Amino acid sequence: MINKKVKSKNNFFWIYAVILAIFLGIFFLKSSFYNPKKINQDYFFKIFIKGDVKKIIIKHRELVLVYLKKENLSYTDRINPFINRKKIMTNSFQYEFEIGDLQFFQRKFEEYKKKYHLNTIIDFKNQQEYTITKFFFDYGIFLILLIIFWVFIFRKIGATGGGPGGQIFNIGKSRARLFDESDNIKITFKDVAGLEGAKEEVQEIVEFLKSPKKYTKLGGKIPKGALLIGAPGTGKTLLAKAVAGEAKVPFFSLSGSDFVEMFVGVGASRVRDLFEKAKDKSPCIIFIDEIDAIGRARGKSSIAGSNDERENTLNQLLTEMDGFGTHTNVIVLAATNRSDILDKALLRPGRFDRTILVDPPELNERKEIFQVHLKKLILSKKVDIDFLARQTPGFSGADIANICNESALIAARKNRSQIENKDFLDAIDRIIGGLEKKNKIIKPNEKKRIAYHEAGHAMISWLLEHAAPLVKVTIVPRGKSLGSAWYLPEERQLTTPEQMKDEICALLAGRSAEEIIFNSISTGALNDLEKVTKQAQSMVVIFGLNEKIGNISYYDSTGQNEFTFSKPYSEKTAQIIDEEISKIINEQYKRAKNILKNNEKKLSLLANKLLEKEVLFREDLKNIFGERSFSC
Ligand code: ADP
Repeated sequence: MINKKVKSKNNFFWIYAVILAIFLGIFFLKSSFYNPKKINQDYFFKIFIKGDVKKIIIKHRELVLVYLKKENLSYTDRINPFINRKKIMTNSFQYEFEIGDLQFFQRKFEEYKKKYHLNTIIDFKNQQEYTITKFFFDYGIFLILLIIFWVFIFRKIGATGGGPGGQIFNIGKSRARLFDESDNIKITFKDVAGLEGAKEEVQEIVEFLKSPKKYTKLGGKIPKGALLIGAPGTGKTLLAKAVAGEAKVPFFSLSGSDFVEMFVGVGASRVRDLFEKAKDKSPCIIFIDEIDAIGRARGKSSIAGSNDERENTLNQLLTEMDGFGTHTNVIVLAATNRSDILDKALLRPGRFDRTILVDPPELNERKEIFQVHLKKLILSKKVDIDFLARQTPGFSGADIANICNESALIAARKNRSQIENKDFLDAIDRIIGGLEKKNKIIKPNEKKRIAYHEAGHAMISWLLEHAAPLVKVTIVPRGKSLGSAWYLPEERQLTTPEQMKDEICALLAGRSAEEIIFNSISTGALNDLEKVTKQAQSMVVIFGLNEKIGNISYYDSTGQNEFTFSKPYSEKTAQIIDEEISKIINEQYKRAKNILKNNEKKLSLLANKLLEKEVLFREDLKNIFGERSFSC
């Protein structure tokens, strides 16, 4: 296979080389044989009165082309055996010159003609007349070079974008990957952990594909498409593959961006091709990942015409989805994490008439996902899946799969025969915080400041009822951070203002601790301040949790009214909002400072322990502060 490819590449190289050589040869021959000489007017009249000139052509009123009589052509040059030089010479002019004043020239010409009884013809040409040979000689070489260049460019594009075969002719063909019986990928619902609701919904699609008659015999129509909506990595592709695996039908998989190409019209043609192929393989499933790449609402762009290609592709997709009848048995599954920006036309019944939400996994679901991915690993008996699931709130299925893989690599690096609990924790740390940078040079006084900063966070989150409980605190630099406190956020569906305030207080505790101990603050709190500001802002403008602003929310779920240009509130309200945000933050900062001041000794104890050990866990905090009691 590889040899064949190399051979065909070589063949093309030789064809190009020969074509180039031929045309370069012709070009040089042309310049050596066919090269009219430039003369001046005086010289012309000299040969003219001698009677050597057969005819002249005045071109564009400024250039004179001089044709000599046959007998006056000189044949002293070398004769090329392949080119009839004589013919070329007699058929074309031999001299040319420019004239300044046409009338003066004409008068002089007629005068001499009469005087010397000459029969020289004079002709005028205002339009350039090109014989094919002339055109070829003048521009042919450049034309050919241009064609070779274009063929080269198109072949390159074809090789990268034209799909199988690497030809420009494949550019309008769909780039969907087909999984059918010949592939050994057999994913079923067993491989998809959790997602019970979503699974139930897609189960029905499997039924439609397996026995369509059961549903159509009463006159019902089989849905043409379903839209899977969920954050990246939550298992949308996996779910679609499982549908194909369960229904035992072919599965075409591609991404929305696969339709888009630099050439206009390619997207629409790829959509057409995809549906043609799918109809051939029916019953089957087409899975379009990231459909928002083409399914974005039409006509919202401010630059007219900038999105034409995408719109054409979307229009074609809509037409195809409308076009195929119920009997074709092709179901389109599409995935996106931005359903809000999709064109409404996509969501109307008859197209993607089912919307299936794929939520991030909850505690139990995470446990199940761990179970699926841990099956392939060699584990120590002490690995506690329950604990791992609790340690990974907010993680998607893909994140969990990644943790499992990473922990196996970490254990292997440490030459262990089994994967331990600690390897999983290291993998989680690494995925959240980036790689440990033990060798980063930090000055002792900076290290002390970092220790107090982190101790401040740890202490407040221990002492406040609603702050997320601490898992561990460390001053080992990791990724961009110099130290960090890791919490285990409570998985709740609703949040109260008290909970939000406690969280703000814990976030501000780092800076407060620095101020109490060093009497100065630092830039180390940037991350905390960003979170705090957003939290306070959301309390006031989004959730209606502020007394002065009241039960008002300026949140716009449609995303159409950006705050950038016009604010939905008056200047006066804007001022109140600013004041209220500052008030919340200042209050919590003071609160954090008070708590830390009252427990300064314990804070120092914790910071020193941190400097000594670099990492502290829940147990260490329990030893210093005792069991959590919520008096603050
Ligand atoms: P999405 O399409 O939503 O971005 P994928 O379906 O591609 O996500 O998921 C990526 C990987 O994450 C899968 O290959 C699988 O290993 C893992 N994964 C995600 N969700 C689950 C789940 N519910 N059960 C098991 N594995 C999952």
